Amino acid sequence: MDGFGGTTLRINLSTEEIERTPTDPEFARSWLGARGFVSKILYDEVPRDADPLGVDNLFIVTTGVLTGSFCPVGSKVGFGCISPATNGHADSSMGGHLGPELRYAGYDLIVMEGIAAGPTYLYIDDDTIELRPAGDYWGMGSLELEKRMKKDLGDDFQIATIGPSGENGIVFSCITHDFGRQAGRCGVGAVMGSKKLKAIAVRGTKSLPVHDLDSMYKLTYDIIQRTKTHPNMAPWQKYGTAFFVGWSNERGCFPTKNFQETYHKDWEKIDGERLVEDCLVSDKACFGCWMNCGKYTRARIPGKPDTYQEGPEYETIALVGGSCAFTDINHVAYANHLLDDIGMDTMSGGSTVAFAMECYQRGIITKDDLEGHELRWGNIDDFEHFVRMIAARRGIGDIFARGTKGAAEALGRGTIDFASQAKGMEFSGYDTRWYPAQLLSYCTCDIGAHHSKSWTITTDIELGRDTIEGKAEVVIYLQHIRPLFDTWSCCRLFWGELDVTPEEHVDSIKHLTGWDVTLEECMRVSERVWNLNRAHFIERNGGPGRKFDVAPARHLDEPIPGGPAEGKVVGRENFEAMLDDYYANRGWDEDGNPTREILDDLGIGYAADNLEKLGFLGKPIPGGIPKVRGRELKPKAM
Ligand code: SF4
Repeated sequence: MDGFGGTTLRINLSTEEIERTPTDPEFARSWLGARGFVSKILYDEVPRDADPLGVDNLFIVTTGVLTGSFCPVGSKVGFGCISPATNGHADSSMGGHLGPELRYAGYDLIVMEGIAAGPTYLYIDDDTIELRPAGDYWGMGSLELEKRMKKDLGDDFQIATIGPSGENGIVFSCITHDFGRQAGRCGVGAVMGSKKLKAIAVRGTKSLPVHDLDSMYKLTYDIIQRTKTHPNMAPWQKYGTAFFVGWSNERGCFPTKNFQETYHKDWEKIDGERLVEDCLVSDKACFGCWMNCGKYTRARIPGKPDTYQEGPEYETIALVGGSCAFTDINHVAYANHLLDDIGMDTMSGGSTVAFAMECYQRGIITKDDLEGHELRWGNIDDFEHFVRMIAARRGIGDIFARGTKGAAEALGRGTIDFASQAKGMEFSGYDTRWYPAQLLSYCTCDIGAHHSKSWTITTDIELGRDTIEGKAEVVIYLQHIRPLFDTWSCCRLFWGELDVTPEEHVDSIKHLTGWDVTLEECMRVSERVWNLNRAHFIERNGGPGRKFDVAPARHLDEPIPGGPAEGKVVGRENFEAMLDDYYANRGWDEDGNPTREILDDLGIGYAADNLEKLGFLGKPIPGGIPKVRGRELKPKAM
């Protein structure tokens, strides 16, 4: 099969059975890869009452149709499971080299079930596949272990690891690879740990069959020549995503002190320029990338050992740096290293500590809860001690190991009002009170609040930040186009920042596979995935769907106290009106339940049957479902 590794693996970790089957071409075309594969497999195979950290959950490692190709750029690999943070579909991707290596070993998809008898790692060396004892690897930090395994197995193995956080089931645990690339969101590292799987090591030496190599080469060559001089190339190469700190701060959406504020007065001490001047060691890139947005850095803090890490990138600076109110980029970089090695998502991890810092500020938790320590804004020692309490689930750390929603539910006292999360996953690094489309994006997102599925800050600016008009339609368009890159399994930044068009990506797929595919077909797959995930979430958690599309009180009611967005807040009425608009434009009923018409139209009528049995199938919409779902905002919306 052109464009693919050709083999799908099924591994039962309990029985150690390994099954190889040819990747099904029809399945591949219908779901396109990574996020799409995960959506369909989880929906079909995971019992609705399966505990996310139990034996019945699946753990999926998957490539997409573009993984391993030079279409800009097929660097990604996806992980899927039911999320312990949201109890819904989880897909999380990362760059680096693991995905291409897996393809070059001949594998498109690995579906793992069961739980290993003891700590284990998966070893793949082309046709050799083994489950090996993880022995003394268990308990090691992610970064430390990757180094050790490179030494033990050889530098040419690509390795993904979890840290102690994943072993201990912290719901925001990540998977780490390439010394700083993470599949960070949804708690995929906790599910990997629940399977007793400490690491995955892959070496692949085969090649990928390409349908039309000359056309593929020409297209890629032209794209490289054109993008080299794109005006965004220089700042991205110099600072990576960190250059975005000032931009976001000036626009009043930079989370500060757990989203109490949206403007960090000391932002210049933690921005991209400071990072480059104080910490940069070298640039770093994923497989096949000529944009090298990765920044390999050194953090120096008197009294602590120097640390080396990739990052911090924007989201980490926002949710660790801004939200925990740090004022020194070395402290943010050190915190980045700590979270990476311990195996926590820097986004949810930073947010959870920031939430705890606000609890401490308000006297809801005290030194008595913190083993005699404090939890002060911007204090790296307090930050480190508390992170270690969470990772080991010591004392009150056990409560915060559940994330901000779980912790707020356990703490009570109105803390849920200032937990910036949706469906159990913490907001990305953008405040929403002057950005209603971003609030809608977070609260309707199928994996919990995450900007990668719909980032609308520029949309809100273009359409007007004080209006809700037209926002729902654009959010829907973005919720289809952006996750498409996760499904194709390639880096989204070439589209978002360098104007490589989605059509050019589709042309790459054509040249790779020989399929007569169109962008319209791909967008339809993306919409199918979104709707299947919605049905799955309702089936697992009960309905109606609307009851899960909930915004935190802070983002609805609490005006921003100062800075460029002073006084701004979305308001409950506006939020509910946006939801009405969103459901109508999606072809769902006013309760947020998908209708049979939309599910049939997308070829997933079986989900309508399941929802009907549960009493959560959407009521038919008078006049039928909209023909066009979602609207692209011209000239450009990212
Ligand atoms: Fe990786 Fe950055 Fe290149 Fe994307 S632009 S492939 S994230 S190095």
